[in-house]
Amino acid sequence: MVTRRVCCVDKCKNTNSGCVKLFALPKDSLRRQQWLGKLKLRKLRCNTKIEHVRVCSIHFVTGKPALPYYPSNHIDWVPTCFLDGMPEKLGDKL
Ligand SMILES: [Zn+2]
Repeated sequence: MVTRRVCCVDKCKNTNSGCVKLFALPKDSLRRQQWLGKLKLRKLRCNTKIEHVRVCSIHFVTGKPALPYYPSNHIDWVPTCFLDGMPEKLGDKL
């Protein structure tokens, strides 16, 4: 049985489809905390298991999180894009 997962970022409703991919939280606990701090996770209910949290590819500059052996100053070490919701108009982002 396949569970339909949705991105955990506030106002983002992306699912694993087309060019959008969903990524689980990092296994490394320090990095995981950094992600959770970034994500704020207002949508996260108390019955949502942390293992089930997913972040979609639009929140990463390169479209995917940095691999665990990358340096921690990599641009996609933590998600940084559109964390306050989807952009209304991409053209306004100057
Ligand atoms: Zn998302």
